[in-house]
Amino acid sequence: MSVTEEDFPELRAEVRGWLAEHRTAAVAPYGAHPPHSHHAGEPERRWVELLRKGRWLCLSWPETYGGRGLGELECMAVNEEFARAGTSRPRLGMGETLVAPAILAHGSEEQRRHFLPRILSGEDIYCQGFSEPEAGSDLALLRTRGEVDGDRLVINGHKIWTSGAQHASMMFLLCRTDPTAERHRGPSYVLVPMRDNGIEVRPIRMMSGGEGYCEEFITDASAPLSNVIGGLGSGWRVAMTTLGAERAGEISTQHLGYLMEFDRLAGRLRDQGRLDDPRVRDTLARLYGRIQLMRCSGVRAVDELRAGEPVAALLAIDKLNWSELHADFGAAALELQGLAGLERPPGDGYPVDELQRAFLESRGRRIARGTNQIQRNIIAERVLGLPKDPRPD
Ligand SMILES: Cc1cc2nc3c(=O)[nH]c(=O)nc-3n(C[C@H](O)[C@H](O)[C@H](O)COP(=O)(O)OP(=O)(O)OC[C@H]3O[C@@H](n4cnc5c(N)ncnc54)[C@H](O)[C@@H]3O)c2cc1C
Repeated sequence: MSVTEEDFPELRAEVRGWLAEHRTAAVAPYGAHPPHSHHAGEPERRWVELLRKGRWLCLSWPETYGGRGLGELECMAVNEEFARAGTSRPRLGMGETLVAPAILAHGSEEQRRHFLPRILSGEDIYCQGFSEPEAGSDLALLRTRGEVDGDRLVINGHKIWTSGAQHASMMFLLCRTDPTAERHRGPSYVLVPMRDNGIEVRPIRMMSGGEGYCEEFITDASAPLSNVIGGLGSGWRVAMTTLGAERAGEISTQHLGYLMEFDRLAGRLRDQGRLDDPRVRDTLARLYGRIQLMRCSGVRAVDELRAGEPVAALLAIDKLNWSELHADFGAAALELQGLAGLERPPGDGYPVDELQRAFLESRGRRIARGTNQIQRNIIAERVLGLPKDPRPD
């Protein structure tokens, strides 16, 4: 499956042994991107609980905080074994993927001991409060304010496009705590309780019918100063750690989810008797080729990680590849099926099948996690060495 296949034989054997014992409880892999409500299901909850007991969550965290202290390549090996067994190894949302790396890199020992176990136990579920109506790609334009009042920070402002805010109990947000400071120096990175704390959450209906994200009106929300990570006014570098904490640990297996969706589409086209159409075959061949390219970029990432190379630029290329592929896949899935692709499943609200959902939700993924134009800027500057994008003062 990848160049790491012979590596870490003991770790791989441990995963295989554990999976052999618990296979019956395993849930099917999610496909390229899990539906927003997926984690709420009872089988998934039971599976996560088993993984927690088996210590197969938060693998890269030091053992002191409940992890296994695994490096990126070891995490890849574990993910490959789960994929090989035909199941998934869910991660604990943004708490695990985005906040924990920032706490580990910039938090005090007290903060690590307090916040990390709460992420691992599922007690704290995080959402990301960075974007604002006037601050997206250029986060330095954010206006949400935080004022120190005794040993607390009082926060006022407006956040938007916050994925999963309606299910979260905590928000990690950026707010300006020094209005006189320069644009990149002012913000602080704070962990703020969401409930009964002056945060009004309004879900935003997406075109897929789901309510994947929300906007929040924040009025006098309060958090203890001990919830500020990295110190007051130092939030920028903490946010950079969060934004840089990409899914390198999944990069060698991520193509499998796309392959699964591809198989679903090919199966449906076969059932519809369309596989003899040369146009259908040509489109499927091109999509399949791009999924294999994604697999190759995963293998390359493994090599670069091994050589100790920074993978930020590679991850920008990867984000561009998977999000553009998924948007093209979604469009092709509907087009190749003809009218059958538009038939909606029965159900209340705005029901869609998984291929229709892929079409609708893949559009936004070119914007989420840094728009593809911004990824192109990163590639232009860091890989091609082109002049930097001019920035306003
Ligand atoms: C599905 C989804 C989930 C999201 N989840 C979250 C979340 O959980 N938390 C959160 O805080 N935010 C979230 N976002 C918001 C996302 O981070 C922002 O939408 C994104 O950063 C872009 O900001 P913007 O929408 O303000 O667009 P803008 O920054 O206003 O950009 C508008 C257009 O201008 C282009 N542009 C801007 N600057 C440049 C430049 N320098 N060079 C070239 N082109 C440029 C952009 O590419 C874009 O096409 C989510 C967005 C989506 C779609």
